[in-house]
Formats: sequence, C-alpha cells, structure tokens
Amino acid sequence: MTLIAPERAEANLVEVRGVKHFYGKRDSAGLLVLDDVDLTLRPNEIVGLLGRSGSGKSTLLRTIAGLIRPTEGKVTIKDMPGEDSAHGVAMVFQSFALFPWLTVQQNVELGLEAQGVSPEERRKRALAAIDLIGLDGFENAYPKELSGGMRQRVGLARALVVQPSVLLMDEPFSALDVLTAETLRTDLLDLWCEGRMPIRSILIVTHNIEEAVLMCDRILVFSSNPGRVIAEIKVDMPQPRKRLDPAFRAL
Ligand code: ADP
Ligand code: MG
Repeated sequence: MTLIAPERAEANLVEVRGVKHFYGKRDSAGLLVLDDVDLTLRPNEIVGLLGRSGSGKSTLLRTIAGLIRPTEGKVTIKDMPGEDSAHGVAMVFQSFALFPWLTVQQNVELGLEAQGVSPEERRKRALAAIDLIGLDGFENAYPKELSGGMRQRVGLARALVVQPSVLLMDEPFSALDVLTAETLRTDLLDLWCEGRMPIRSILIVTHNIEEAVLMCDRILVFSSNPGRVIAEIKVDMPQPRKRLDPAFRAL
C-alpha cells in the first residue's frame, strides 16, 4: 500500500455528476441508458460496478474514459499535476481490442502514439509494461499466437504504458476461462498491493458478484432500465490477495 498524505486521501480522483446518456434522439424515440448517474472514485481504492448485461455499464465507463460525451452531466478527472507521473485514465476492454496485424510490442506502443513520446522512449516504456505484466519474451508475438489470458495481459500492458492515474476495466476477465481469469486477477492484485503499477485507483465493471467481492474495496450496484447507481456496498472482508501456488499457473 502506498502511503498518502491525509489531504490527498480525501480528494476525489474521478467525479461523475448527474450523467444522463441517450442513444439516438433525446426523446421517446431515443434510448435512455444512463439516468442521473453519480459516482466518485477516491485514491487508493478498487471500486466495482456491478450490474446486469445491457444496464449501461460499458456506456458509463466509456463516458468516464472520454470516448463518449454524455448527453447531460459532467465527468471530472482530477489529476494532481506535479505530484505524480500518473495522469488521466486508460481502459481495458472485455474483448481485448488488440490489432491482429501488430505484434505485442507494437500494440502496447500504440497506447503512447498519441502522446508525442519519442520512439526510443516508447520502446523502453512498452518493454517495461510488457515485462511488468508477465509477457517478457513475447514482444514479437502476434495476438493470434497467444492464449486469451496472454492477450488480455497485452490489453493491460497497453493501458498501463500510458501511466494513467485511473484504470478502467470493462469485464476484463469475462472472456477468459475460470482458471485463467483467476490467475490474471491474482497477478493484477499482486501488482496493485505491491505498488508496482503507477495507477492510483481502479474501476472495474463486472456482473460477477464473487469477483467483485474478491477484488473491490467498494461495490456500486447498478440498476438497469435505465442505468443508475442504486446502492453501495463496502467490502470489509480481509482481501484474499495472496499469490497463487505456481502449480496452479501451469494448468
Ligand atoms: P452493459 O455494458 O451494462 O452491458 P451497455 O452500456 O453496453 O451495457 O449498453 C446499454 C444499452 O445501450 C443496451 O441496451 C445497448 O443495446 C445499448 N447500446 C450500447 N451501445 C449503443 C450504441 N452505440 N448505439 C445504440 N445503443 C447502444
Ligand atoms: Mg458492457
């Protein structure tokens, strides 16, 4: 765990206030997906967003990532310039969203393309992220040569390489088999607990209650039709954030 000054611990990292989103026209013909959503993310926490399929979770995450502009309301990402090297948000997608014609390293470097980072620095940071996430030696592999779990590791490396302060994860494990999901989740929690990822908070979308309880400090319950945060559950259980037996990994 990172130690943070009390005043910083109080500050919100992400604020979502009164967000409404319609797909299509803003009338009876349009689809109201998000209705008056409020959400806060504070430093040093993993927050779960738990809700049914089709309830608007991905839409909300994309809104926070700046990929969708909400019809109404406001999303604020409160970075702390000068204090941290971490800035902004990065997202991990359920379907990995890798480019099949690019290698692992090229996929990861893509995350930095828009940031004006020099090629040498891009290479250095991409290799560090690939190493961190356990894909050392696979830099030149193509996504089709990798298992699902490894592909999602590439997705994670591509998100981490931009050094975001907030990591948004949209059902990151739901395309994986149970054992692979468990391994990746444990590895992610290890990196988080050991402070090896430069991120300050994680917002993870899931419809898996067990996963939410195992990973999160708080769980926000999301209603459907329309999507809205209707309850907050604090998870007080000691987190089983222990490393898996290596034998389990070999499966
Ligand atoms: P979830 O991630 O909780 O499954 P989504 O945010 O993906 O929910 O979708 C919420 C609702 O909005 C669904 O009814 C879905 O069909 C609809 N929807 C999602 N994306 C679009 C889009 N680009 N255009 C129109 N409707 C969409
Ligand atoms: Mg979704």
